Amino acid sequence: MEFAPVKSVHSQTMDTLDLIADSVVLLDSDWRYTYLNNAAEILLGTPKLELIGQLFWDAPPESISPAQFPLLERSMHDRVATKFEQFDAASGRWIETHAFPATGGMILFLRDVSAQKLALDEARWVQNELKRSNEDLRRANRDLETFAYSASHDLQEPLRNIAIFSQLLEQKLGLKLDTETARFLDGILTGTRRMETLVRDVLAYSRATRQAEGPIPLVNAGDALATALQNMKARMEQSKAAITFTGMPQLSIHSIHLEQLFQNLFSNAIKYQENKEPPRVHVTASQQEGWWVISVADNGIGIEPRYASQIFGLFKRLHSREQYPGNGVGLAICQRIVEHYGGRIWLEQSPPGGGSVFSFAIPDRRIE
Ligand code: ADP
Repeated sequence: MEFAPVKSVHSQTMDTLDLIADSVVLLDSDWRYTYLNNAAEILLGTPKLELIGQLFWDAPPESISPAQFPLLERSMHDRVATKFEQFDAASGRWIETHAFPATGGMILFLRDVSAQKLALDEARWVQNELKRSNEDLRRANRDLETFAYSASHDLQEPLRNIAIFSQLLEQKLGLKLDTETARFLDGILTGTRRMETLVRDVLAYSRATRQAEGPIPLVNAGDALATALQNMKARMEQSKAAITFTGMPQLSIHSIHLEQLFQNLFSNAIKYQENKEPPRVHVTASQQEGWWVISVADNGIGIEPRYASQIFGLFKRLHSREQYPGNGVGLAICQRIVEHYGGRIWLEQSPPGGGSVFSFAIPDRRIE
């Protein structure tokens, strides 16, 4: 019976080390090369046989700079592992060196980490770009806000003047005013009033998130809701509206903003009715994975689902002003406020019994 020659474990290990892509170098305690695998031979660019027996300091790899020698010396002396990386100009690669003190010397593993380094650099670059464009966007937004604010603010006065002078003209002409001139003056006054409400709404939109500064407080949503109801008392009495609510939580939001949200949603719920029966509005709250979701349901005319996102746009309306008065700013303000707190507002799917349900979600900061 013939036996195949059995390789020693040592030479088997050396063969295996020759197959791996990382460079492996063994040094004795006098810092002389005692072993290099194939990858190390390529990295150092000198035949193994020439290097073995040579002092490490006389022929160190390009990827270990003299500045890192003290790290290696300390590692061997204190018998602690060390790790560092260095750009190898010769090969254009980033090499990471792991040094492990071993019996009678030291083992060095040298690994090409260029790909990881590149990926990391790219990730950092993308992150920086993202940060920069975010800042640009924030600045542009602030500029636009300031522009809308000053433009609408400054437009108020000339508009008021047009209204006052048209009225003065009407009074001065008195009986001399013929029908046609009266119609023209009336047109000027109607247009001016309409423009005044538009300008007022743009102003309200541009300062919607300005009114409250400082840290975000935790407020009782029930209190904000009660204030909104108080502010709308006359309209509610006039329309015989009933607004009910259950389980209002503590929300992380400035109360002036929550009041405004409730007020805009309630006023739409009361306005968009067929007037067959008095408006009924019910407000509920639910906690969902780090969010508080507040829903406002009404028994009004409802909204076709295809308009679900359009209605939140500035000046977007689904009805003529003759049918229902308004400028299309209320929901845009709601969206602006909610997004200011990192939240979201949406129209729920049409409820089976008719009407509409609007929901908004505010992060539940107490669990952050
Ligand atoms: P406005 O009420 O001044 O038109 P909004 O921004 O508040 O402005 O609303 C935008 C549009 O969304 C309204 O014109 C209306 O068509 C629709 N809408 C808002 N709320 C309701 C509601 N509760 N029921 C039916 N339609 C609504």
